[in-house]
Amino acid sequence: GQCSAVCPTAAITIRSNLPELWEMLNDDNIIVQAQIAPAVRVALGDDFNFPYGTNVMGKIVAALRKLGFDEVYDTATSADLTVIEEAAEFVERLNSGEKLPLFTSCCPAWVKYAENKHPELMDNISSCKSPMEMFGSVLKEKAKKDAAGKKNNKIVKNIAIMPCTAKKYEIQREDLKMNGEQVVDLSITTHELATLIIESGLNFKDLQPEAVDMPFGIASGAGVIFGVTGGVTEAVIRNVVNPENRSELDEIAFTGVRGLEGVKEVKLPFGEERVLSIAIVNGLRNAENLIKAIQSGEAYYDFVEVMACQGGCIAGAGQPFVIGRARPERSEGMYNADKMSNVRTSQANPVTEALYNDLLSGDNAHRLLHYK
Ligand code: SF4
Repeated sequence: GQCSAVCPTAAITIRSNLPELWEMLNDDNIIVQAQIAPAVRVALGDDFNFPYGTNVMGKIVAALRKLGFDEVYDTATSADLTVIEEAAEFVERLNSGEKLPLFTSCCPAWVKYAENKHPELMDNISSCKSPMEMFGSVLKEKAKKDAAGKKNNKIVKNIAIMPCTAKKYEIQREDLKMNGEQVVDLSITTHELATLIIESGLNFKDLQPEAVDMPFGIASGAGVIFGVTGGVTEAVIRNVVNPENRSELDEIAFTGVRGLEGVKEVKLPFGEERVLSIAIVNGLRNAENLIKAIQSGEAYYDFVEVMACQGGCIAGAGQPFVIGRARPERSEGMYNADKMSNVRTSQANPVTEALYNDLLSGDNAHRLLHYK
């Protein structure tokens, strides 16, 4: 493994999934879907000599199409669903006063750590699936509907391109399966994607950027910043506060949610007289210290974001090795993508609205987007 003690998966030998993937890409009976995690776009460029933090999302999409992927999506789109579900869960818990603090659940290395070391916290961890798993569930549900309407009878495989090695184990979890089957079929790392592109002989540097596919082709900036520590919190705050203009967005950005420190604390006015207390930690050692402080009564929080990797997913174990200024530059790449986005909040994303009116209507949102 290329990462240090902060990464719990470093000790495990990671088997490459590329041979399996090549087989799928060459099989005409399989519709191969890709979903690309936010942090991948600001790191893959390292392997092709782009300056640190360059956002190469458009080129990744173009490369995947050339490699034979039939549909290409952005995991930031489903991160918008995660924000909406998690913010609703948070507000519900604030109102009932139960199961606080709410801990985030999108980092599988953190979830596994909590399961092993802190089973007493399981009720506090959000019941939301990670954005990757939410997208997998939504896409498999759509495939099932399309097949029923005889739109196609091909097999659909969902391939997640992730900054993370722990995601390879997350996709196999029993409590994330639907009808006994994985919703995400393969998870490959950023580094494996680089290998795939190099093996194919594509000239990545010269590819013309392309956009992801409809009908899931829009992601908010809030969904994109999931890739950096503090991003999930900022996205959830945007949902709870519902900023109406740029200066209100900036106010949220300046609450202290941003920055690469291992532990950050944020205070946020909520309603008439309440002030929310939020902690953002990266690195499991920092998480452990925070849990101790909470359990001893030394600290109180309403919401805690935990990412196992230092700096969040931008520095995941599946990314090109983090050296020099890679971490701050990748972080800046994430916030620049948010700034460039014309949809800044998850609730303003027309894709999420359309999904809630159709595929996610009624009980489906709970069935498809939450742990069993
Ligand atoms: Fe994976 Fe690290 Fe991101 Fe957690 S913080 S999801 S372990 S890349």
